[in-house]
Amino acid sequence: KLYNEVQELKGNIRVYCRIRPFLKGQNKTETSIEYTGENGELVVANPLKKGKDTHRFFKFNKVFGPSSTQEEVFLDTQPLIRSLLDGYNVCILAYGQTGSGKTYTMSGPSINSEEHWGVNYRALNDLFHLTQSSQNTVMYEVGVQMVEIYNEQVRDLLSDDVPDASMHCVRSTEDVLELMNIGLMNRAVGATALNEKSSRSHSVLSVHVRGVDVKTDSELRGSLHLVDLAGSERIDRSEVTGDRLKEAQHINKSLSALGDVIFALAHKNPHVPYRNSKLTQVLQNSLGGQAKTLMFVQINPDEDSYAETVSTLKFAERVS
Ligand code: ADP
Ligand code: MG
Repeated sequence: KLYNEVQELKGNIRVYCRIRPFLKGQNKTETSIEYTGENGELVVANPLKKGKDTHRFFKFNKVFGPSSTQEEVFLDTQPLIRSLLDGYNVCILAYGQTGSGKTYTMSGPSINSEEHWGVNYRALNDLFHLTQSSQNTVMYEVGVQMVEIYNEQVRDLLSDDVPDASMHCVRSTEDVLELMNIGLMNRAVGATALNEKSSRSHSVLSVHVRGVDVKTDSELRGSLHLVDLAGSERIDRSEVTGDRLKEAQHINKSLSALGDVIFALAHKNPHVPYRNSKLTQVLQNSLGGQAKTLMFVQINPDEDSYAETVSTLKFAERVS
């Protein structure tokens, strides 16, 4: 069973939908969302309509409901992460409006709460366990980079004044936690000036693995990109101007470029338009070819979010 599951997960593009729980004190009405997790089927009811044609139907590889745990989500992600050690390039992205749980899924609510760790920490933790237990046959080296993309500019979050993203060699989960703390701090420093910038920039954690077979000396390389995307909410152009409008246009451009790339890959189009945004350029080697892609589409459960929810689900439907 595990083998089949791994084979299946090694298929090229997968989409998981995750519905965030209703948060405590949220004084709102819940949208009616019905789903059968295992089948990946999801039905969303339009709160504004009565009678016929009120329901929209979607199908993904899997749906995680509000009570799903970080561990459950990781279990369905792990085979993909492990394929990194077979020399595959892997890209895992979280897409959705601000507040829908992208950061929760990718990183978790806090670095200190191991129980609630997101995909990032669990993935690295898992990779270290695997690489250490195979030391007699394959020697692995693991390097980490962390950047944010804001207004089509790439900024290294792990060190200043280097032209390219700096690569940091890591040997343990502790090393990674230390680096990620630095990255998060650097992200926050930029944020005070621009207020909540994190929701308007993409953050990309890249893990590069090189394995050398002890006996044959043959080498394997794989890379993993873990991407917490900028909020996908559409901004009302009549209400924003200046910097805010520029940000919104950049986000819009890069998310549609991402959609176009994944769409082209899913439909095996001969031309894949990577050059249209910084985001797709940065992710190029982990999208397409032999690479495996997993997208989490994050959903807000409240009625006010209905329009954004449908727009998010449509984006995901187009690329799946
Ligand atoms: P985003 O990164 O998409 O803006 P967050 O990950 O910051 O959204 O989530 C918004 C809020 O909802 C945070 O307080 C977060 O802790 C909480 N949250 C999101 N997903 C879950 C979940 N699955 N379980 C519990 N709390 C969650
Ligand atoms: Mg976030």
